[in-house]
Amino acid sequence: MTSKGRYQHNKYCYQSILRLASLPPSHPLAPMIDQCARLCPQYHLTTFHILLHLYPTNPLLIETIQSSSRHPTHLSPFTTTVLDSKETSIILDNLAATTFRTHIYSDGSGIKGNVGSAAVWIKNGITHCTLQCHLGKLAKHTVYESELVGIILALEIVHKAGCSMPCPICISLDNQAAIKAPRLNNMASGQHLIRALTHSALHIQKACPSHQKTTLQWVVGHRDVLGNELADTAAKEATRGASSSRQTLPLILRTPLPLSISALHQQHLSTLKNLWSLRWKKSPCYPRLCQTDPALPLDSFLCLITKAALTRTQSSLLFQLHTRHIPLNLHLHCIKKATSSCCLTCEAPRETVHHFLLECLSYDAHREPLCHRWKHLSQDISFLLSDPKAIATTIDFIHATGRLQQTLSELSNH
Ligand SMILES: [Zn+2]
Repeated sequence: MTSKGRYQHNKYCYQSILRLASLPPSHPLAPMIDQCARLCPQYHLTTFHILLHLYPTNPLLIETIQSSSRHPTHLSPFTTTVLDSKETSIILDNLAATTFRTHIYSDGSGIKGNVGSAAVWIKNGITHCTLQCHLGKLAKHTVYESELVGIILALEIVHKAGCSMPCPICISLDNQAAIKAPRLNNMASGQHLIRALTHSALHIQKACPSHQKTTLQWVVGHRDVLGNELADTAAKEATRGASSSRQTLPLILRTPLPLSISALHQQHLSTLKNLWSLRWKKSPCYPRLCQTDPALPLDSFLCLITKAALTRTQSSLLFQLHTRHIPLNLHLHCIKKATSSCCLTCEAPRETVHHFLLECLSYDAHREPLCHRWKHLSQDISFLLSDPKAIATTIDFIHATGRLQQTLSELSNH
């Protein structure tokens, strides 16, 4: 297995163990997973024992993901407003001051490796009540979770105020995914929070029949909307550890939340990426590839071929130019497929990619359009092979020379 394959294998194994650890108790495999996580026998290990030994995971600490987040017949206790335009959302937010008698802003934030949430009740243009909650490390909880917790905090403010709170009520936040979540019925991470906020909203409606459906409204973030800015500041304080007293928080937030499988997966991916990056930097290929594109061979190369709209053959040619494993005489001689490393046309001693693209006198006429278009940049091999704008002209030059026509016949279709 290649080193890249090993990392992919590691990624999928951890993904599988997280999914198994998050199964609901009613699932036939759940008791087996719990038992395998607790005890590891010396002999006759099952696949679960091996996976849980390689990736120690405690299912009791991890969130449970049900096959659906709500009963299909249950109606959402929220009215949601999500607009396409950022400007319209600001106008609607200004109108909310007259449309709604109570306006609460919530926000979630993840900075410097920590996550926090806050909800701020704005009354007559000033902060009337604030609730904050520090969720913990970003390695264990996602920003999406913090947005859902922000809604739970806002509903707690409504719950505490009881029937005295003026209706109708609007909760504004800047995260569309969190607003749409209570209406969806999927197996996504964060289900326990969606169930908690739905339960809270239903409880409020039941306790105070005068309360209509609470509105969840999207407002664009970081555009100087007063309530959103206040909630954002409070959420950032929460990431630094600020939290409202335990008694004022809803029950679900008085104890640590179960770990998010999404956050754990992201953390694992990040660790794998760092390990792979360290390994790659020790590779003998690294110094050579680094000269052309320091980001190779990561996702940036895929972005590059997408941006430059290259065909399969052209992408292959570009990668061969980057790696220097291309049918020019220096490489052919190295792999014993050519008798000499000399350039056949100008008899230079080494036909390298650099020689072929920039120096070979035989191709001066073909190089003219490149020099004319890119001026001094046409002498920069890194620019010619790594800039999406330049790649098409570089490929045109190679096609015009006909040097690689024999091996890359489809190039002429460009
Ligand atoms: Zn030459």
